[in-house]
Amino acid sequence: MPLGKEDVQSIRADLADLTLFEAMLKQKGIDGLIIACDDCNEDHRNSWADLIGNMIRLLAGETIAPGHGSSDGTYVTWDWCRGYAAAYSSDVPRYTS
Ligand SMILES: [Zn+2]
Repeated sequence: MPLGKEDVQSIRADLADLTLFEAMLKQKGIDGLIIACDDCNEDHRNSWADLIGNMIRLLAGETIAPGHGSSDGTYVTWDWCRGYAAAYSSDVPRYTS
């Protein structure tokens, strides 16, 4: 099934986020993301390399297999990364309570 224009845009946005998250977080000892799996209703750990590789395969029109790896390491959620990136970025206004 060919990707629509919006699909491509959203995958590109995810890919940009993942690249940023990996650059920020790998050095902090975070190995990848916990992704909720639609197939088995469980959370799976996906390494940065797997996640980025999957996005690139999607953009190339290939199908991907969901990551079912159980590698050891420290994994965080996508939302956690977004919050971290927002706090990290100097472009984001800092609010004080
Ligand atoms: Zn699964």
